[in-house]
Amino acid sequence: MIEKLANSSLKLGIISGGQLGKMLIQEASKWAIATSILDPDPDCPAKRIATEHVEGDFLDFDTVYNFGKEVDILTYEMENINIEALLQLKKDGFKVVPDPEVLALIQDKGLQKEFYKKHNIPTSPFACCENADDIAKAIEDKEFTYPFVQKLRKGGYDGRGVAVIKSAEDTLLDGPSMLETMVEIDKEIAIIVARNELGEVRCFPAVEMTFDEKTNLVEDLFCPANISDKDVKIAEELAIKIIEKLEMVGLLAVEFFIDKNGEVVVNEVAPRPHNSGHHTIESVLTSQLEQMLRAILGLPLGSTKLIMPSVMLNLLGEEGHTGQVRYEGLSEVLAMEGVKVHLYGKQQTRPSRKMGHVTVLCPTVEEAFEKAEKVKNILKVKSWQK
Ligand code: ADP
Repeated sequence: MIEKLANSSLKLGIISGGQLGKMLIQEASKWAIATSILDPDPDCPAKRIATEHVEGDFLDFDTVYNFGKEVDILTYEMENINIEALLQLKKDGFKVVPDPEVLALIQDKGLQKEFYKKHNIPTSPFACCENADDIAKAIEDKEFTYPFVQKLRKGGYDGRGVAVIKSAEDTLLDGPSMLETMVEIDKEIAIIVARNELGEVRCFPAVEMTFDEKTNLVEDLFCPANISDKDVKIAEELAIKIIEKLEMVGLLAVEFFIDKNGEVVVNEVAPRPHNSGHHTIESVLTSQLEQMLRAILGLPLGSTKLIMPSVMLNLLGEEGHTGQVRYEGLSEVLAMEGVKVHLYGKQQTRPSRKMGHVTVLCPTVEEAFEKAEKVKNILKVKSWQK
């Protein structure tokens, strides 16, 4: 792999071509790596900058298999992929990183929780249920009391596939799921950890998230998190323990809750670049994308030293606007020091669609928050036709 990198002949395959894929390609191009993306959308964000775009369904066995055998190394920036195809590629000697077996475990929230239990990793109590009857039984047996959280075992993202069930009146999600005790959340934080083939590990600085109650999407994210050094240490040690126990090579984003009693518990992990690492592109010496490339290519990991505190805000489609996108206030925010705008290139906007993000860099998080508020009031994602 390093030989090919040194010859400028390395071809990296990425499933899929969303914004994280686009950001990965931006970093890969620094090292003259050719990139091929698999994505069914002819206008996906990475399309304009990928060396090659294969239009196809990442849930289809043959499509994924045929894509994977044409590249030197195959990786992914999302989780809902045909696992059997990835496993077959691995079996047939093709390089897939992170290991598809790790993805199979993480893809299933039930297996993920079993893994935490097995390794004594603190997480909220849970039970797996096949259907509504099983759930009714768990409630009857007093295994769960209202309110609890129901999560579909597979396929959920960005809060979809997660429901807080407050009473018997609430509608349950349909499908095999995992029930979790409600955590009384004080803070939500995340740490991205990287590991390479030599077993070298490195954590990014902890970030803290704030959520929009209506959309359940991360609203702002700031770094460094406003937590004690002790909690940073606990979270870092857990992140490292998880990536080591998984024997995983690549990037792992670990989301934690700090509950009202001050306990740090693991919520979930993702074996890929993550929204909670967008800010690293400008605010850390090595971005999460460069770190991922270093990890999967067997290179030394880069420094994760913070350059400057930051606030990251998502650019979401405005309510009442659907259609061809039009960004309002771009020049005004670009005139502000330390404001870095990322537009994903999605042509069509709709309410709450993630269209881009902005990272605001300032000497303190407080100043970054003030500036971020101004950005939010000026920069709007609208459409041409209302
Ligand atoms: P997703 O995979 O869609 O991001 P998460 O498991 O991160 O799903 O859940 C989305 C959000 O729901 C979390 O960020 C948190 O705010 C809330 N949540 C999830 N699990 C719990 C829990 N056990 N107790 C309280 N809130 C929870």
